[in-house]
Amino acid sequence: MPGFELFGSAEQKEVHDVLDSGILMRYGFDAMRNNHWKAKELETELENQMQVKHAQLVSSGTAAVSVALAIAGVGAGDEVILPTFTFVASFEAVLMLGAIPILVDIDDTLTLDIEAVKNAITPQTKAIMPVHMCGGMARLKELKAICDTHNLKLIEDACQAIGGTYEGKALGSYGDVGCFSFDFVKTITAAEGGAIITNNDDYATWADHYSDHGHDHVGSDRGAESHPFLGYNFRISELHAAVGLAQVRRLQDFIAIQKKHYTILKEALSTIPELTFRTIPEEGVENYSFLNFFLTDLETTTSAMTVLKEAGIDGCFHYYNNNWHYVRKWEHLKDAKSLFPMPAPTKDALSKIDINNFKQSDYYIARNISCLIKLSWTEDEVKLRASKMVEAIKSVL
Ligand SMILES: *Cc1c(COP(=O)(O)O)cnc(C)c1O
Repeated sequence: MPGFELFGSAEQKEVHDVLDSGILMRYGFDAMRNNHWKAKELETELENQMQVKHAQLVSSGTAAVSVALAIAGVGAGDEVILPTFTFVASFEAVLMLGAIPILVDIDDTLTLDIEAVKNAITPQTKAIMPVHMCGGMARLKELKAICDTHNLKLIEDACQAIGGTYEGKALGSYGDVGCFSFDFVKTITAAEGGAIITNNDDYATWADHYSDHGHDHVGSDRGAESHPFLGYNFRISELHAAVGLAQVRRLQDFIAIQKKHYTILKEALSTIPELTFRTIPEEGVENYSFLNFFLTDLETTTSAMTVLKEAGIDGCFHYYNNNWHYVRKWEHLKDAKSLFPMPAPTKDALSKIDINNFKQSDYYIARNISCLIKLSWTEDEVKLRASKMVEAIKSVL
C-alpha cells in the first residue's frame, strides 16, 4: 500500500518547483511564487479523480476527520457512532470537538454492523462515521438510509481506502463528507497531509476557512481578510502538497499493481477450505491495499501469525493484539486519560465503554489476519510469498 515505496523523480520535480521559488506556504506571495500553487493543483486533481465538487487539503488525516466533523456541525455533547476497529485518530477527532464517540460492533466487512448502528442511535446522535478499514468499505447504502431516516450526517473516514469505489462512486464521496490521509504509510503519501472531499458548497467554504484560523480568503491582502468564525491551523504546506500531487497522479497505477499482487495471493489462499475472506459489499470495489482473511479461531490465528513470521512473511497484522487499531487496548480512552479536564458527560460516556465486551467484534478481529500489499514486489516475489503463506497456514490448521 505505501506510496513511499515508489517515491521518485516525479515527486522530486514537484518539490524542486517549490524549493526554487522558496514559497513554502500555500496562500499568498502571488508575485514571488513563479505561479506554483501545488496545494491548489492537488485539490483540483482530487476533485477530478474523485468526481466531487470540492476538495480541501489539510495537515493530516486526523485534521481531515476533525474538519469534516466540524463542518458537519458536530460539537459539544453530540454523539458520533463509529466502529470498534479503526485507528485511534477517528475518536481523537471526535473528542477534540467536545463530542462523544459511541463505539459499536463490526461485522464480516470489518466495518460498522448495521444492526449495531441502529441500536446505538439516541436523541444525541449527530453523525455516523464508517471507517473503510484496510482498503475495503462499509455497507454505505444501508448507512445512508439510516442517516436519512434519523436526519444524521454520514462522514466517511476513507483514510485507508483512497481509490476504492461504491456504486461506482469514489469512497469518501458517497456520504456528506469524506476524509483521506496522506501520512507516510498510506496509499498516497505527502509525508504528512490529508484532505476532505464534499459536494456541499457550504461545507467546502467552511472547511477552507476553518482550516486556516477562519480566514475568509477574500482579496489579496492576508492581513486584511476577515474572520467570519473561529478556526484553527490545519494548513498543509506547499512542500507536502508537491509530494502528494506527484503521488495522486499515479494513484490508478498504484491500484493496478496492488490489484495484481492481491489477486495472486487471494487465489493461492482460496485453496485452503477453512480460510474465509473479509466480505466486500457487492456495490464496492476495494483499493487492494490489504488482503484480509479469517481463520477458524483465536488460537489458530495466533499460531498462524507465529508461523508466518518464522517463514519470513512480514507485513501481516493480527489486530486483536494491536494497541492502536482495536478497542481491546484502548484503556486510555475508557479511563478518559486526558492532559486537561474533559466535559463530565464525555467522561461519563467513556467510562461506560466495556472494552472487553464487544463479543461480535472479537469474533471477527480475533480470527482476522490483514496482510499489507506492497507495490515494490516483483511477480516472482508475490508467487513465492503466496506459496509460503499457504504452506504456513496449512501447517497450523
Ligand atoms: C491514518 C489514519 C487516520 C489519520 O491519518 P493521519 O494522517 O496519520 O493523521 C485516520 N483514520 C484512519 C482509519 C487512518 O488509518
